[in-house]
Amino acid sequence: MGDNRLALDGRVALVTGAGSGIGQACARALAAAGAKVHVVDLHGAAAEQTAAEVGGWAHVVDLADPAAVDELPREVDILVNNAGFQHVAALPDFPPETFNRMQQVMVTAPFLLTRKVLPHMFSRRWGRIVHISSVHGLRASPFKAGYVAAKHGLEGLSKVVALEAAEHGVTSNCVNPGYVDTPLVRDQIADQAAAHGLAESEVVEQVLLSRAALKRLIDADRVAALVCWLCGDHAAHLTGASIPMDGGWTAA
Ligand code: NAD
Repeated sequence: MGDNRLALDGRVALVTGAGSGIGQACARALAAAGAKVHVVDLHGAAAEQTAAEVGGWAHVVDLADPAAVDELPREVDILVNNAGFQHVAALPDFPPETFNRMQQVMVTAPFLLTRKVLPHMFSRRWGRIVHISSVHGLRASPFKAGYVAAKHGLEGLSKVVALEAAEHGVTSNCVNPGYVDTPLVRDQIADQAAAHGLAESEVVEQVLLSRAALKRLIDADRVAALVCWLCGDHAAHLTGASIPMDGGWTAA
């Protein structure tokens, strides 16, 4: 634990969607490694609870609102673009306003935050940007047009950031989880169980994880451990990459 703390002592992190799930796990892990964390979330109570727990700062922001994003701090050494949400519908029924909101939250906000924090990172000649993409940044599934389009867009953004930021000591990478045990997935399991007439455990194995070799949901703490690892100095040469943590889904 002592070495772990020293790894990010003095660093300032900003994690979006840090009131729940993977973002909350990232806020906890980064704080445990010594960073001070800006906790950004749409839901005030969740943001404030996480911020209090990790000794950080809460920001209640709708990331679909560029003016609100502009109010966020720019003196950030570690940016974790994590906030996101799912909507499942066939293309003819997919609401255009939901599609647009998904791009705003999962592509435009990461772009705006990246351009906001890069000058500080460049001046320090050190920075880490980690985008929580998905296996759906690398593969498609039916009925997820908004999400798959957004995550593929985030992949492209990450690679351009990597190319422009490399000479300034800043890396940009995507982490690509399969299904992680978070409220976002728990809601889908309940919906799918009702739709298919299956037990929730059957939905996990037969529906969600049908393409993964490992038939278990991933712990959010494991995703957070990979994010923290990418923030270490040992990862200085790892940039422009997309790292699957998907139980073998993309290997098949
Ligand atoms: P979650 O629903 O538990 O947490 C997401 C958080 O983002 C919530 O606290 C929510 O309030 C916040 N958020 C959503 N829209 C926002 C907005 N407009 N402004 C500010 N905050 C907003 O979900 P999670 O499973 O932890 O997902 C986190 C990220 O990981 C998402 O980008 C998701 O696409 C990605 N991901 C999740 C899984 C999974 O299986 N859970 C797999 C791959 C990728």
